Amino acid sequence: MTAPDPIQVIADLFASDGAREYLGEPVTQAAHMLQAAALAQQCGAPPPLVAAALLHDVGHFTSAVSGHDLMRGTDNRHSDAGADWLAQWFGEEVTEPVRLHVAAKRYLCAVEPGYHAALSPASVYTLAVQGGPMNTAERAEFEANPQAGAALRLRRWDDEAKDPAASPPAFGYYKSLLRRLLRPSSPPG
Ligand code: FE
Repeated sequence: MTAPDPIQVIADLFASDGAREYLGEPVTQAAHMLQAAALAQQCGAPPPLVAAALLHDVGHFTSAVSGHDLMRGTDNRHSDAGADWLAQWFGEEVTEPVRLHVAAKRYLCAVEPGYHAALSPASVYTLAVQGGPMNTAERAEFEANPQAGAALRLRRWDDEAKDPAASPPAFGYYKSLLRRLLRPSSPPG
């Protein structure tokens, strides 16, 4: 049996679960991630970071605990779940900003005046579930991560990508970008 094409697996996620889930925001998860990717491209982000923006919330669908559980108060660790799931196909430049995008929110809440006040109500709610603003030791550990800068950029796009009036490119627009980023050991597609 041949392994499924990873790009098709991800495309199916956008078309099924992603197109149904809102998780407390005014846009679906699929629309949210497509907007984040479009913002990343507009900012001239390198392809792996565009891919990370596009895929940053897939953990809501791949985790054993769903995004709905997160909204009910159980941390589904969707950043780790998503990064681990993506690691079967992509390298660290894609997976680690995804892994750190929740940490980046907790970091910015600790270091940037006004950041917390600008978060959406759903993001404020999940912040508490995810551990609240970072303490000093957590901040130092975050800053030492080589992907911290990329994760902070991703976080800004994540926070902005909740506009019901936006019309970003569809998933198909990113297929070739994603395919070029597949690790050589990944199944051919
Ligand atoms: Fe997000």
